[in-house]
Amino acid sequence: LPTVMILGRPNVGKSALYNRLIRRREALVYNTPDDHVTRDIREGIAKLADLRFNVLDSAGIETEVSSGTILGRTTSMTANVLARTQFAVLIIDVRAGLHPLDLEVGKWLRKHAPQIKPIVVMNKSESIGDSLAEVASEALALGFGEPTAISAETGLGMNALYEVLHPLLEDYMVQTLNDRCTQDDVTSEENLSDEDDSKLPLQLAIVGRPNVGKSTLLNALLEEERVLVGPEAGLTRDAVRVQFEFQGRTVYMVDTAGWLERTERDKGPASLSIMQSRKSLMRAHIVALVLDAEEIIKGQRSMTHSEVVIARRAVEEGRGLVVIVNKMDCLRGKKNSEMYKKIKEAVPIEVQTVIPQITGIPVVFISALEGRGRLQVMNEVIGTYKRWCSRLSTGRLNRWLIKVMSRHSWKDSASQPKIKFFTQVKARPPTFVAFLTGKTQLLESDIRFLTKSLKDDFDLGGTPIRIIQRSVL
Ligand code: GDP
Repeated sequence: LPTVMILGRPNVGKSALYNRLIRRREALVYNTPDDHVTRDIREGIAKLADLRFNVLDSAGIETEVSSGTILGRTTSMTANVLARTQFAVLIIDVRAGLHPLDLEVGKWLRKHAPQIKPIVVMNKSESIGDSLAEVASEALALGFGEPTAISAETGLGMNALYEVLHPLLEDYMVQTLNDRCTQDDVTSEENLSDEDDSKLPLQLAIVGRPNVGKSTLLNALLEEERVLVGPEAGLTRDAVRVQFEFQGRTVYMVDTAGWLERTERDKGPASLSIMQSRKSLMRAHIVALVLDAEEIIKGQRSMTHSEVVIARRAVEEGRGLVVIVNKMDCLRGKKNSEMYKKIKEAVPIEVQTVIPQITGIPVVFISALEGRGRLQVMNEVIGTYKRWCSRLSTGRLNRWLIKVMSRHSWKDSASQPKIKFFTQVKARPPTFVAFLTGKTQLLESDIRFLTKSLKDDFDLGGTPIRIIQRSVL
């Protein structure tokens, strides 16, 4: 992905724009003490309509500029960050007009990273009327072209920002791809296998309605009584986070009790906002949704409405999904054997039907109370995590593309776009870009076909697969 750095003197609204662009997703923070100055550079994935890019919030550089004295002394960390940045959004405060420090920032950028292409935005423009044009003409003095008026606080001007960034980023992506495609496949394949993210700690969220046995499962996985278990619904009120090692890997596990309960209780828009506020819990990499076998029999369906909503939300948020059917011990004995068999057959099919957004969702049948199926749960969780971290080289994908193109009946029309190349731009979850000839987009059914083929051919079950479309004209 292209990288865009947000620059500007203090208080122009860098963080506000950053937060708006990443929609408050989790940000990485680098702390590098340097001559008693702590520089923080936050990094996240920005989302602006269909654009995705890395965005850096450069509070640390601001310190350099405002103190004047440190100008010209970039740390190796900053130099490193600058070297992998292609674009900058230089913010000025429209209410203050062009400030001498803005010019310093511009100068600093020219000096230290002349390869970075800056665009200028005038922030805080929500309440400014006439003086906008005036500030706009002042801003030309920066030498970075016409500025774009925005308001990071209110979201005003985000369309205009998109219009400016879109062609720049798209050109960059196409260029990089062209470069990459002409490179030797073998080297890129080797590079990819080097970064095995699946060794990183795994964040697992256990979700489910009250009393399905989440805490019991958690305890079974931990093999010790660390979480309170009881028959009263909602006993474990707040999310509990525990850490354990499984086969040499660190797993952070959160029990999200109280979450689905509330969604269930407060139906309608209120429940949606609760879910939004619980979004942080969705920071999990893998979501394990626990269902209760007894309830399934009573209710005659695998998943209640709220369970479906949560599962879909997890998938939309890009999390891997594993479904766990607990309390299978209740179905032991001769008189239940039919039911036992039926559940095992029906649940995976039903789960897949109500969550068509991802395919190959693993379903595990367990008894948390008896500690049965623990290993299977962890194997599926880790398997899904590895698939979620998958990286496929461009060479491999494009060889695959040639094959799948012939497997699918593409709509035979002049307007039907052709996929020129296909590349993975991101893992966790696997995200691909299909570069298309022509201006039109692929049909819904084409995307479904590609997603399913990727899942089948590269073993990507249980993980969302994203395909971004871009036209190369
Ligand atoms: P939570 O609200 O989802 O965390 O559910 P708990 O773990 O507190 O369990 C609720 C009740 O279900 C408790 O009485 C558990 O003993 C019981 N339970 C949990 N797992 C199982 C299981 O595998 N089989 C049976 N029969 N009961 C279970």
